[in-house]
Amino acid sequence: MKIVIAGAGIGGLTAAMCLHRAGFEVDIFEQVSEMRPLGVGINIQAGAVRILSGLGLEPALAATAIETRELRYANRHGQTIWADPRGRHAGLPWPQFSIHRGDLQMILLRAAQEMLGSDRIHFGHRIAGFGQDGKVVKARFAGRDGAIVRETESDILIGADGIHSAVRAHFHPNEGPPKWQGILMWRGVTVGKPYLGGATMVQAGHHTQKFVCYPISRAHAERGEALINWICDLHVGDGALPSREDWNKPGKLEDFLPRFADWKFGWLDVPEVIRSAHTILEFPMVDRDPLPGWSHGRITLLGDAAHPMYPIGSNGASQAILDGEAITAELAKGGDPALALKRYEERRLPPTARIVESNRRRGIDVMLDVVEQRAPEGFSDLDAILPPDELEKIVGDYKKLVAQDRETLLKLAAQK
Ligand SMILES: Cc1cc2nc3c(=O)[nH]c(=O)nc-3n(C[C@H](O)[C@H](O)[C@H](O)COP(=O)(O)OP(=O)(O)OC[C@H]3O[C@@H](n4cnc5c(N)ncnc54)[C@H](O)[C@@H]3O)c2cc1C
Repeated sequence: MKIVIAGAGIGGLTAAMCLHRAGFEVDIFEQVSEMRPLGVGINIQAGAVRILSGLGLEPALAATAIETRELRYANRHGQTIWADPRGRHAGLPWPQFSIHRGDLQMILLRAAQEMLGSDRIHFGHRIAGFGQDGKVVKARFAGRDGAIVRETESDILIGADGIHSAVRAHFHPNEGPPKWQGILMWRGVTVGKPYLGGATMVQAGHHTQKFVCYPISRAHAERGEALINWICDLHVGDGALPSREDWNKPGKLEDFLPRFADWKFGWLDVPEVIRSAHTILEFPMVDRDPLPGWSHGRITLLGDAAHPMYPIGSNGASQAILDGEAITAELAKGGDPALALKRYEERRLPPTARIVESNRRRGIDVMLDVVEQRAPEGFSDLDAILPPDELEKIVGDYKKLVAQDRETLLKLAAQK
């Protein structure tokens, strides 16, 4: 069976490798003419690391990334609200990795080139049109100048072409731009000193003003440094996006640093980390409404093309990776490919839609808002303002929802 994938991002490359492993003939078409290691930090949750480990990638990831030991939530004074061990440190069979997105992308690309053969990954090919005629999907790809450079025929087409998916837009021409609720994110990477043991992800503040940071480089850790990925979220408006979002738009310190000027935690000097950054990017926190369906005959969506979500709870890349495993499992069962794509959708659309919706309601970050509301100047007794059972419920509900609780993770691994 021939499968064409549009988009060689995290989702497209992972799906291609899973499908190739299962014996399918896969070609990937990517719009950029050369892959560059773009972006800043990203997290791969243990459930997604399981899939990448199955593809033989754990050694490369472990050599590059930080194995995340702990996720810590704190108020804007740096006082801990909740701390949770991650991955193997939580007794799971797989680690969680924090990594530079560019490094992850290049690890996946090199592995895919090796597995599928470099001639199966076609750069400078933007999907420009497609249609299906019975059992055949025909697609057209354009080069940089817009001229059609290739036409393909396949049994299946997967749109893994990100938040501005052309494949999605074909089926939903009136959907318009991504949705924005007024939060801008400034993201940066800073070489600094290790904090809290050197492998802790921190989420501090509250919904409308938050600082997130985590170290992402093993090489830096081995030199006694920390390559700290950080994100400042600020609520700046409502309604329409000021301009189309761009992953590579540079950010300006004066737009957000003053709001974090007194965020000095003792264990981390937030303004110092921000000021010392060597990269600052600005990006709005956007998503899209969940779709009623992803699969149309022999064409479907995967990753951000299917379910772009707010980066709350570090789920974007991990959910895209889980899609790749699920679509492979359903196609490998054989039978009518259109039915397999429907089963894939039935398996993956409801859980990802729940995450999109939960993230809009601030997901697990609810605990930060509760503490900010009840004790804006800090607390001396956390239990008195956020009783343990209330905290446990917020955490337990979210972990179940994103399938990060131990029970669900092990069940998913057994199910494949
Ligand atoms: C340049 C870039 C930088 C990013 N930086 C970060 C970051 O720092 N932190 C973070 O959390 N997330 C980042 N993301 C998003 C993150 O990668 C995704 O949310 C997540 O990993 C899901 O992956 P995906 O493969 O579905 O989408 P993506 O990783 O967005 O990949 C989609 C791919 O499809 C390609 N594409 C788009 N349109 C077409 C078309 N018409 N035809 C063919 N190919 C097409 C794109 O060039 C891209 O390679 C970034 C995405 C991009 C593209």
